[in-house]
Amino acid sequence: MEKLNQVYEGKAKKVFATDDPELFIVSYKDDATAFNGLKKGTISGKGVVNNKMSNYLMQILEKNGVPTHFVEELSDRETLVKKVSIVPLEVIIRNVSAGSFAKNYGVEEGITFPEPTIEFSYKNDDLGDPLINSYHAFALGLATKEEINTIKTMAFKVNDVLKEYFKNLGVKLIDFKLEFGRLSDGSIVLADEISPDTCRFWDINTNEKLDKDRFRRDLGGVEDAYNEMMKRVFGE
Ligand code: ADP
Ligand code: UDP
Repeated sequence: MEKLNQVYEGKAKKVFATDDPELFIVSYKDDATAFNGLKKGTISGKGVVNNKMSNYLMQILEKNGVPTHFVEELSDRETLVKKVSIVPLEVIIRNVSAGSFAKNYGVEEGITFPEPTIEFSYKNDDLGDPLINSYHAFALGLATKEEINTIKTMAFKVNDVLKEYFKNLGVKLIDFKLEFGRLSDGSIVLADEISPDTCRFWDINTNEKLDKDRFRRDLGGVEDAYNEMMKRVFGE
């Protein structure tokens, strides 16, 4: 597999073409941003943690019937993935109140919901990723009704699998963001990443935050949190 030209550089990853038109290589950086790019920094070793953790979780999801873009881990920071056309929606599942949910609806963090919630943001940096509903997504032509239903079903399935998986590691899966894409045949697969950048993880006993909130909120121990999650997933 030959790595060709860079097709995109995002806030946390670079994307490269390959000599196979159906495959991309993603390369994970240590760059961290928050608040729509307003806060910038570096989290040393983050790219390695996110790459390896995301690949591992995607393989678990595949085994549980969720199709993903994962093909092969090439190195600590680089992974071969199926090229998709990204559906421009950030799909957010929540099990426990936190972050913008707590802020927007005036509740404290840490309230466990009777059942998980789903919401969508329109993935558009210029607009600040505004919250939209599935009718808006359809009206804007971002996805078909069938695709939206598929995405909802897959997102809740991801939650069922990962919530149970992390519970066994002593970690509460508070909330997370997913992105989906279309393969060349039009089928929907899970894409992008699943990592401490895109999930909230709290220690099951102490509620200690083990995710990007340590960076967003200047809590300190940012690298330690990523390393701790790496340790929980892969062992010593
Ligand atoms: P951002 O674009 O939000 O700054 P990243 O730095 O993570 O995010 O950049 C990675 C980009 O690659 C994202 O825009 C993401 O939607 C896109 N992407 C993720 N997986 C795939 C894939 N399999 N095929 C094509 N694009 C992908
Ligand atoms: N999230 C993400 N990318 C975004 C926005 C949110 O990965 O652009 C994740 C975030 O890490 C958290 C979940 O989605 O796990 C819910 O985030 P929330 O809406 O509470 O927003 P935030 O508090 O991060 O602004």
